[in-house]
Amino acid sequence: MLNIKNLATYYGQICALEKININVKEGEAVSVIGANGAGKSTLLKSIMGEVRPRNGTITLDGKPINNTRTYKLVGRGMTLVPEGRQVFPYLSVWDNLLLGGYTLSLKERNNMAEESSAPFPILRERKNQMAGLLSGGEQQMLAIARAMMTKPKILLLDEPSMGLSPKLVYEVYEKIDELHQNGTTILLVDQNAEMAINFCDRAYVLMAGRLVSEGTKEELMNSKVVQASYLG
Ligand code: ATP
Repeated sequence: MLNIKNLATYYGQICALEKININVKEGEAVSVIGANGAGKSTLLKSIMGEVRPRNGTITLDGKPINNTRTYKLVGRGMTLVPEGRQVFPYLSVWDNLLLGGYTLSLKERNNMAEESSAPFPILRERKNQMAGLLSGGEQQMLAIARAMMTKPKILLLDEPSMGLSPKLVYEVYEKIDELHQNGTTILLVDQNAEMAINFCDRAYVLMAGRLVSEGTKEELMNSKVVQASYLG
């Protein structure tokens, strides 16, 4: 579904990504793990057209998307849950959801808000409250539900565990797993290697802008390098 070949992204002279090859098949959940500054966010921004890669090709369903604008990618079935959630704190929970469906008609938007919030009862209970009043975990749920408003075929998530307690991290990953089990293809990046590897079918390891390892969940959990560097 999503194929990345020989991707390189620079910020001026700074090389953030080099020689990146990643393949996500329909129905898979794939993660990219890596430490601070490894290039995880840059990878997702390169895919979503927020930064322009210097080299390489990215295809979605076999068609190149390198120069495709972000809003058009949303229309083609790919959405991003950004790092730090980025909910609109002074808008209601419901209005945050409606904004995620900006490509839809008003009627469709309300129907989709009902549908995308269904797995998250807390969002329905607090639909009229300002989103900034939600806890970090609840805001993460809202950011995910907002991204589901356009029924993406593939959902990208940037550090879904960021700033959350272990219990909430688990709850967020359980929801991601639920979406995956219901047919959404997932590509996520996270520093939390244990969760990201455990909840996904396959994972890649990114270090200083390069992929240094890849494998199935079982292969990576048993890898000495991954155990020593990421799992403690
Ligand atoms: P974190 O987990 O801290 O968000 P990350 O793995 O997502 O890290 P990126 O944010 O992609 O890493 O950053 C990769 C590299 O690119 C880092 O060296 C970072 O300093 C650099 N970088 C990121 N954004 C910019 C920018 N706008 N201008 C210059 N350098 C940048």
